[in-house]
Amino acid sequence: MINSYTLSKALLGRARAVIPGGVSSGNRANWTPFPLYYARGDGSRVWDVDGNDYIDYVLGRGPLILGHGEPEVIDAVCRQLRSGQFFAGQTEAEIELAELICTLVSNAEMVRFCNSGSEAVHACIRLARSATGREKVLRFAGHYHGWYDGIAWGFSGVDVHPDGASFPLPMSLGQPSSDASNIVAVEWNDSEAVANAFRTYRGEIAAVITEPIMFNGFWSNIQPFEGFLRFLREQCDANGALLVFDEVQTGFRISLGGAVEHFGVAADLSAFAKALSGGVCLAAFAGRKEVMKRLIETNTVHTGTYNAYPPAVVGALRHLTLLAASSGAKLQRIHHQTALLERGLRDLVRQTELPLLVRASPGAVTTAFRAAPTQVINHRSAAEGLDFSLQRAWHLAMQDRGVRITPEGLWYVSAAHSATDIAVTLDAARDALQSLS
Ligand code: PLP
Repeated sequence: MINSYTLSKALLGRARAVIPGGVSSGNRANWTPFPLYYARGDGSRVWDVDGNDYIDYVLGRGPLILGHGEPEVIDAVCRQLRSGQFFAGQTEAEIELAELICTLVSNAEMVRFCNSGSEAVHACIRLARSATGREKVLRFAGHYHGWYDGIAWGFSGVDVHPDGASFPLPMSLGQPSSDASNIVAVEWNDSEAVANAFRTYRGEIAAVITEPIMFNGFWSNIQPFEGFLRFLREQCDANGALLVFDEVQTGFRISLGGAVEHFGVAADLSAFAKALSGGVCLAAFAGRKEVMKRLIETNTVHTGTYNAYPPAVVGALRHLTLLAASSGAKLQRIHHQTALLERGLRDLVRQTELPLLVRASPGAVTTAFRAAPTQVINHRSAAEGLDFSLQRAWHLAMQDRGVRITPEGLWYVSAAHSATDIAVTLDAARDALQSLS
């Protein structure tokens, strides 16, 4: 069945006159066949304006891990909106949420709230620079840490000078080139490159920032080598730098205690967004008391009109409370459904001639089409042999069959995805693969 996208197309035409590309986030422009407009979401499903309905594995790009419209979250937000929208002052719920995060995440001794993952990362880096008096940040090629000028170097990879020195590429036009001098970008899972960077820039590196699982880049869900995160911890300790985990993807998804619990390695600072709040607009950064206290004991500035916006705080508190209830029963269900989906997709890999590959971590599956036989361990190797046109055709074929995944092939799983949803998804995937063969 091929969907009709007539009304979306008309809205997109109208939007393009007043909104560049018709989208408010650049990556939404990459949709196939073009950016769609949506009308409704409920549980595991969304409906576009043409009335096409989808089993949704985009989930707002990750936040909606309890599904669309979780009633208790919606009720909490509505109650707060009615009783007092916004005070630019404190609420008790803010303390409760910070206490809950500190209970769940072992390296979180103190928390501050903000509005996006990009902001949370920005705050972590500022704190690390404040705490060390240094300016350079070591980051990894292909990891995404938000779009802010200072850190968005190396997302698109690294290049190599004729003299052999590598340097980061900017993510965007318009970034001041002077910011590049504060970024040291190396390939992930490369311990030697990290050790070399610390030798080359002795006493200059304020922080190492990493996605604990590489969720971004050409092909996501790349795991750290055994011991790699611990090695980063040791290198930071040995060289007086802070370790920052960007847990925007992993936090409250791979485990209630995030990557720190999952891998048993503590970061000094962590950035959270997405699954923290279940679809209300809230992010946070957290870490060691000694470092976090610099926000009040030194002139290390973190401000924001909408920080800890009460409706978002109560929504996130309800969401996180539900997620953590009964020893994390809901999260266990999400992991169980993820494993079911992964197994089903792996069965399809055996049945197709297409170079379909499947990876997964708890809560998210990735599909890609890649003929290269090399192991995928970092940004460079992930790019090898990827078939982007097949990936786009797969995205559209799945969408036409009522399954919504991200164009990059990342599938987020929610507690609302039923066994039937997954069976229907796998039937659609089988049919889509046949149509592409
Ligand atoms: N860090 C990581 C690992 C992300 O995946 C993202 C967004 O996808 C961000 C930071 C930026 O978060 P936001 O889009 O909320 O600014």
